[in-house]
Amino acid sequence: MPHSRPVALVTGSTSGIGAAIARRLAADGFAVVLHSRSSTEDGRRFAAELGTATYVQADLARDDDRCRLIREAIAVWGRLDVLVNNAGISRVIPHADLARATPDVWQELHEVNVVAPFRLIAEAEPALRAAARRGRAGCVVNISSHAGVRAKGASIPYAATKAALNHVTRLLAVSLAPDIRVNAVAPGLVDTPMTADWTEAQQLWRDRAPMRRAARPEDIAQAVALLVTSDYLTGEILLSDGGLNLT
Ligand code: NAD
Repeated sequence: MPHSRPVALVTGSTSGIGAAIARRLAADGFAVVLHSRSSTEDGRRFAAELGTATYVQADLARDDDRCRLIREAIAVWGRLDVLVNNAGISRVIPHADLARATPDVWQELHEVNVVAPFRLIAEAEPALRAAARRGRAGCVVNISSHAGVRAKGASIPYAATKAALNHVTRLLAVSLAPDIRVNAVAPGLVDTPMTADWTEAQQLWRDRAPMRRAARPEDIAQAVALLVTSDYLTGEILLSDGGLNLT
């Protein structure tokens, strides 16, 4: 018998934005599967703190680990209703420095930021379709970036992977409907350990963004929760940048 609560898997959820999403979905009544590449102890501790939660380690650069993650996530409670593809990597390279954007950088970012989310969705497809048969469409939320929408971002390879993820979102929204909704949140700057020393970007958001600050991880979690609860939304790329794109 599947668990009575809906189940959400949030990748990369022991820190930063992913942890805030996991916390929010748990508060909204989901059983949560936490995941990260290496912080196993943090993951187990966080799962115990959340209550109806568990933790699975997997390296999303490896296809066998991607398949195992989905298998183990479904096995815990016998169902999967929501998949949040939050795990991602970035490389900071000035856009004009073409030599530093090597083939290795392109391939590494592409595997983790584009191929991994697609493969996780592919492996989760039967379980997400089963959610629709229980009465509510399965739901995928991809965490992309404003860098995938505008000519901005930590590096050209990073921005290109996020643009690709946005397009994968739209393509899958069409091909998996109506059983599975597929949307993305595209954050601007978010206060996380990764961006703690990005002082120029922080100043930019304080000076130019209509909301006068970078996002908190909880702001992005709120946007994810909105997409999860909106039964009619699919194929949307929800820009969450405090309005910076307007200036
Ligand atoms: P973070 O570094 O705190 O979290 C990234 C997570 O991804 C970690 O849990 C890590 O374990 C996981 N991860 C990375 N490589 C992995 C791999 N090979 N296998 C498995 N897991 C892997 O970063 P964050 O700032 O919280 O970023 C979360 C998402 O938000 C990313 O997709 C990032 O691109 C996106 N984003 C962040 C910002 C920002 O300003 N922080 C802005 C726009 C988009």
